[in-house]
Amino acid sequence: MSQPAKPAPQPAGRAAAKKELPEHFKAYKHVWVFIEQERGHVHPVSWELMGSGRRLADKLGVELAAVVIGPTGDATKAAVAESFCYGADLAYVVADDVLTDYRNESYTKALTDLVNTHKPEILLLGATTLGRDLAGAVATTLLTGLTADCTELEVDADNSLAATRPTFGGSLLCTIYTLNFRPQMATVRPRVMSMPERVEKPVGRVIEFPLGLVEADIVTKILAFVPDRDKATSNLAYADVVVAGGLGLASPENFQLVRQLAGVLGAEYGCSRPLVQKGWVSADRQIGQTGKTIRPKLYIAAGISGAIQHRVGVDGSDLIVAINTDKNAPIFDFAHLALVTDAIRLLPALTEAFRKRLSPHTRDRIAS
Ligand SMILES: Cc1cc2nc3c(=O)[nH]c(=O)nc-3n(C[C@H](O)[C@H](O)[C@H](O)COP(=O)(O)OP(=O)(O)OC[C@H]3O[C@@H](n4cnc5c(N)ncnc54)[C@H](O)[C@@H]3O)c2cc1C
Repeated sequence: MSQPAKPAPQPAGRAAAKKELPEHFKAYKHVWVFIEQERGHVHPVSWELMGSGRRLADKLGVELAAVVIGPTGDATKAAVAESFCYGADLAYVVADDVLTDYRNESYTKALTDLVNTHKPEILLLGATTLGRDLAGAVATTLLTGLTADCTELEVDADNSLAATRPTFGGSLLCTIYTLNFRPQMATVRPRVMSMPERVEKPVGRVIEFPLGLVEADIVTKILAFVPDRDKATSNLAYADVVVAGGLGLASPENFQLVRQLAGVLGAEYGCSRPLVQKGWVSADRQIGQTGKTIRPKLYIAAGISGAIQHRVGVDGSDLIVAINTDKNAPIFDFAHLALVTDAIRLLPALTEAFRKRLSPHTRDRIAS
């Protein structure tokens, strides 16, 4: 007796996923970058994303648009003009005084209405406090996918966005696709992408879009703006020189050696995660996957082993100098200069040597 034919094996993983985009999403075209501005200041991550957006748009053969949401007036106009200097072909502008301060409700409405009307295929935002809050709300309102904290953005062979991010505690990288929904949304942390070159006085189209909301419609009210005095003032992510310490320094007192060297170099100081967990250093100084990403010209790491979660935050540094007693420490796999020695002894000697050789003027120049 003949056996019934076995069903053909089904492809696994992504190959099994239905890649055909529903008809109503096929009109979604172009790459958008949300330009994050607060109180007249554009977060530099927006320009970093313009660089990535330009590359994706060129590969797809589509336009790159900046999305500028804010109050009416000069600051918003300046952000639009600046977006052209960083490669935008056009800018969508939602300008309304209701949008003076960021509120999730009003900004989500502005951005989702804009998306539903003008239909971008890719929407990128900075993974800042504001960007994360807005991206999550917009993605859930639009019922689309959002890949957070991406480290790489590429266009796949089928023109879909391949958004790569660390997973399993940073030990693996996974690439995530939003196959059946649009727009494909992604956030990227500051300094993960390099800053594109700024081109003076280019031109671009401006498309204004009404907010369709009045103050009375918004539940959250801004009563006053009180700057946080305890707010971290560190400029770690954008510093040119960074000195950092890890568990090898053995005590919070020894961590002062890092701060002293940083002080003499006019540098910012940072640390590995265990020092934050121990309460030796504040969280805004943590470098790595769950801390800040840095891209300094010079990074000095003292007593840091170089675990993958730390490495991903420093890989973009021009010159990495590692001080470690263990010649087999993983940090020596990616450091440019390896100093196999006791950091507790070397750091004061370095501080003294730089103090003697660097004039205050030189220090200011290094820091500027
Ligand atoms: C989900 C997740 C997220 C994480 N995120 C981060 C992150 O954002 N940033 C981060 O840093 N880590 C992060 N980690 C932790 C990371 O895995 C490592 O545990 C951590 O980076 C190790 O810190 P360390 O190098 O200071 O300590 P250790 O690994 O203990 O290394 C200390 C080093 O100091 C050296 N040493 C000892 N004495 C001296 C001395 N006298 N002079 C010079 N060298 C000396 C030792 O040889 C050793 O290499 C994360 C982990 C997880 C699971």
